[in-house]
Amino acid sequence: MRGYTIAIALVCIAGTAAAPMLHAQWKTPWDYTGPRGADHWSALDPAYAICNTGKQQSPIDIAGAHRADLPPLRFENHSAPLEHLVNNGHTVRVNYAPPGSGDFLIVGDTRYQLTQFHFHHPAEELIGGKRYEMELHLMYAAADGDVAGVAVFLERGRAEATVKTLWDHMPLIVGKDLTIPGVEVNPGEMLPPNAAYYRYLGSVTAPPCTEGVVWYVLKTPVEVSAAQIAAFAKLYPNDARPPMPLNGRVVSESR
Ligand SMILES: [Zn+2]
Repeated sequence: MRGYTIAIALVCIAGTAAAPMLHAQWKTPWDYTGPRGADHWSALDPAYAICNTGKQQSPIDIAGAHRADLPPLRFENHSAPLEHLVNNGHTVRVNYAPPGSGDFLIVGDTRYQLTQFHFHHPAEELIGGKRYEMELHLMYAAADGDVAGVAVFLERGRAEATVKTLWDHMPLIVGKDLTIPGVEVNPGEMLPPNAAYYRYLGSVTAPPCTEGVVWYVLKTPVEVSAAQIAAFAKLYPNDARPPMPLNGRVVSESR
């Protein structure tokens, strides 16, 4: 029993020190470019088949959106301890244990709970061919399993306080799942004051590229500093999937 306890203790020490890939999120590795790049995701694993064959993939280049009377987005956010901060090999991400963080996106009668958020450099969604420097993705799930994504463009300007908190503790080692004692973050503080948006039906933008995600792409960017962009880019120079074909999908735009 004593030996068992010591063994567990050693595993825990290794876990907090430098054990790579403790929480590998993907069974089959993939990249954004090269032989395992975005053009080849379908061939890497049958579970990724829809990546290059699906007709409702994300991101897209948003152009010719149709103005419509869309419901306003309502957000309910709060500060909570910073847990499950992970560098998953493709981005820096904060995960929340199911069913989510207790932060909500409310659209009409549907309440979606925040399940994770993460970052892309450069931005994935384009607006009329224009690409922002970074993009924040907040992923939500409703009780019935419906998934929604909120995309927030990040542009060069003043430093952003929540991003600073996250970057101060940015895990450099892939797979480490960090809890930061005494530190809290409120994801809502990274949202712009104006929630005007584009809406379209798409997918998760990384393997397995699952479709059925309603994307709400906020029009108003949020500022982050040049140093904050550079710090992320040093870790991930390119974690953006190229834009995918629209295939006749309608993009709506709130008034
Ligand atoms: Zn994303």
